[in-house]
Amino acid sequence: MPGSTRKTTLEECDLLIRNASVFDGTGGSIRNADVAVSGDEIVGVGPLDGIRAQAEIDSTGLCLAPGFIDAHTHDDWALLRTPDMPFKVTQGVTTVVAGNCGISAAPFRVQEDLPDPFNVTPDVQSISFETVTEYRRAIKDEAPAVNVRLLAGHSSLRATVMGPDLERAATSAEINRMAELLDKALSEGAAGLSSGLDYPAAMAAPREEVVTLARVLRHHPNTVYTTHVRGEGDGVIEAIKEALSTGQRADVPLILSHHKCAGSRNFGKSKTTLAMIDAARAKAEVAMDVYPYTASSSALMERFIDAAKDVIVIWSAPHPEVGGRMLDDIAAEWGVSREEACTKLKPAGAIYFDMDEEDVQRILQHPASMIGSDGLPGTEKPHPRLWGTFPRVLGHYTRDLKLFSLAQAVHKMTGLTAAKFGLTDRGEVAVGKKADLVLFDAETISDVADFDAPEQPAKGIHYVFVNGRVTLSQGHQTHTRAGRFLNNHKQ
Ligand SMILES: [Zn+2]
Repeated sequence: MPGSTRKTTLEECDLLIRNASVFDGTGGSIRNADVAVSGDEIVGVGPLDGIRAQAEIDSTGLCLAPGFIDAHTHDDWALLRTPDMPFKVTQGVTTVVAGNCGISAAPFRVQEDLPDPFNVTPDVQSISFETVTEYRRAIKDEAPAVNVRLLAGHSSLRATVMGPDLERAATSAEINRMAELLDKALSEGAAGLSSGLDYPAAMAAPREEVVTLARVLRHHPNTVYTTHVRGEGDGVIEAIKEALSTGQRADVPLILSHHKCAGSRNFGKSKTTLAMIDAARAKAEVAMDVYPYTASSSALMERFIDAAKDVIVIWSAPHPEVGGRMLDDIAAEWGVSREEACTKLKPAGAIYFDMDEEDVQRILQHPASMIGSDGLPGTEKPHPRLWGTFPRVLGHYTRDLKLFSLAQAVHKMTGLTAAKFGLTDRGEVAVGKKADLVLFDAETISDVADFDAPEQPAKGIHYVFVNGRVTLSQGHQTHTRAGRFLNNHKQ
């Protein structure tokens, strides 16, 4: 092992973090250790007395973990528009998986009149890249504060090949063309394929279309198929069944996106869906991501409002003045039904209070679930998950509710996620791994963002390092931007 040789001969390093309680990301026991970093790599873990360091941090009383990996984001655009990424860095996130739910900035040719979810944030139609290589170049030029792993979106492929006419099945010639584009995207470093079958942009895609595309992944190691399944409300069981079957038929690793059971009629169904997932896991590689809230957020759509007790309209293109108000209040003021108000407000974004706390906790506790924020940057009054997801899991759900141990919680946002997304050199505090690290206080860590004031940094995150560079120092962003595009080949 090259790492251990280096460790024993280590005399000097760039950065030495002393006296940390190290949660190494594997879910195993905590140990007190010093951690040495040189360049972008961890070069020593253990008692490291007598080593000279350019900089030293005494982290007595703090926890040191691998930088958190956000398994589910729509940050493709934010990485270029707000490259400081404060809503991620202040949570301890050092890598984001972008391109989820079928929409990715590449490969994508943007055009007029694309259906939902192409307006899930106003950014989606602002910039697009026909190839992953062009997107990689833009990331390199802009140098965002965090790393990015990019999935190629099925709906983006559809829009590129089919134009705005997406409410139909693709022809076999169109599927072939999408498969070619996907193959190229994966060769250029995309991490896999994502789909969003619950949205008009892909709802009409038959199972065969998706299976054919997912099969392209087989030629590319370290890739994965992620899916926002065809229904998360009344149709959730059927939709999970379809996703599991797609993964098995294509014979590729599967990740179920933001797993949930929406609508009071479906509360408790996570017992069934998780049992289905467990049965599938006996035969195939299946995992899921989840965020720690009982409210979801997406484009404002008539078909989503039924399942929700309350709906907050977070932005509306024709009626910007209603941002942050309840849909029911707007409808009452206008003297129209919820549905009519919804139609008038579109394109718009919304928060839906549509889940049961017990389902959320059950899914969070499942050994195959990892933490993904699904945050929507670039919107007015975003869902607080954008700024609060990771500290909320570590504070509210781990320390306060004791849903799992701190080591398990860290694993769900580091080692597990790295393994599922083929990030072989991240997600662990170990010699030879990349120096993405976070120092936090387990006693005080908590989410501050809420539905009234959603854009607030969390408490308890002290330091964040991205590729060995200090990106958050004593709770303040340094504006260092050391993030990279992480490709699916060995880094
Ligand atoms: Zn989604």
